[in-house]
Amino acid sequence: MDHFLYKDGALHAEDVPVAEIAAAVGTPFYVYSTATLLRHFRLFDEALAGMDHLVCFAMKAASNQAILKTLAQAGAGMDVVSGGEYARAKAAGVPGDRIVFSGVGKTHAEMRAALEGGIRQFNLESEPEMERLNEVALSLGVKAPVTVRVNPDVDAKTHAKIATGKSENKFGIPISRAKEVYAHAARLPGLDVVGIDVHIGSQLTDLEPFRLAYRKVAALTEALRADGHNIRRLDLGGGLGIPYTRSNEAPPLPLDYGTMIREELGHLGCEIEIEPGRLIAGNAGLLVSDVVYVKSGEGRDFLILDAAMNDLVRPAMYDAHHDIIPVVEPASGVEQRPYDIVGPVCETGDTFAKQRMMPPVQAGDLVAFRSAGAYGAVMASEYNTRPLIPEVLVNGHQFAVIRARPSFDEIINRDTIPEWL
Ligand SMILES: *Cc1c(COP(=O)(O)O)cnc(C)c1O
Repeated sequence: MDHFLYKDGALHAEDVPVAEIAAAVGTPFYVYSTATLLRHFRLFDEALAGMDHLVCFAMKAASNQAILKTLAQAGAGMDVVSGGEYARAKAAGVPGDRIVFSGVGKTHAEMRAALEGGIRQFNLESEPEMERLNEVALSLGVKAPVTVRVNPDVDAKTHAKIATGKSENKFGIPISRAKEVYAHAARLPGLDVVGIDVHIGSQLTDLEPFRLAYRKVAALTEALRADGHNIRRLDLGGGLGIPYTRSNEAPPLPLDYGTMIREELGHLGCEIEIEPGRLIAGNAGLLVSDVVYVKSGEGRDFLILDAAMNDLVRPAMYDAHHDIIPVVEPASGVEQRPYDIVGPVCETGDTFAKQRMMPPVQAGDLVAFRSAGAYGAVMASEYNTRPLIPEVLVNGHQFAVIRARPSFDEIINRDTIPEWL
């Protein structure tokens, strides 16, 4: 559910007409709904009610300061995967004890910054990383709270580029080696082993792979406790999928996910952390674009938009589907026709959809990509020297630009000319 609906024939973001935002900021732009972000966060929070828990937003999905602040004020923690994200979380006012640090390649500098600024835990992904963190912690005279990310070798049944829990993926340590790795961690005086971490992939549309993974985590918790480890926290990762189109079957709801967690892990008495990204932000954002030209090709018509793959790379990178709808509500019963919907970038991959059925559209019309709030703006680039597009946050009747479009001069002035030129 989201707050992007047609009212009086015009697409609205909460109570603001999308066309009004377009007139104020120009196209293309991203727009997010505060009510949708908060609703999704609360669904997870409520799904885990009764268990000691923390919902850590996986901020790589959407990391604008205003979005982070919105969620942090509602009580969210953050899952960060770089020193930059850690700094962003802190800047948005998230206390260190609500930040977990994930990722396979944490550097010395990143570890140091997080230990100095405060951290809930590091989710470690290898033994070399464990040794490194131990050294950094000892050099600062502190103990670093850690979990080890185990790779449960389950098939998440999602797109290969976002599956992370099979043994061939680079993530975590094989669960079969967990006992040795935990024994190693326990010998390192700079580490405090607090729990277990697992994250099997993204855009999962079935609870079964989660259930299989969590069952393995439950068994591992018992085995590690028997070895004398004080396992008291389980970080269960993110990955719950969202409906990218209304015609498909809906993925499981946070409430059912929470029930499954209680069933599989509730008896262990552990504190539970989850790291949802896409489900919180995905359907809370639109990408709004202008139709520059309608071009008739041989046997097909192209809609050429002013948004491109550099603004939203998911279709090019993951063959992702986004529903694309006109901002002016089409008359009911209007006949749809197929369009190839493309951007202006000089790449064949700059194609958002092929033979997509749409109501008739003309140059100058606005269209909106639904479900663009996660892995949208954060993955954008300035390829073709197309400025990063603005981000706008709506809250009821109000809207604000939360990241402005840079000017060409700002872009050019980021480069510096060596003195010999
Ligand atoms: C990407 C990622 C997430 C978030 O995944 P979503 O599918 O957006 O929920 C959570 N945890 C880790 C470790 C990740 O890499």
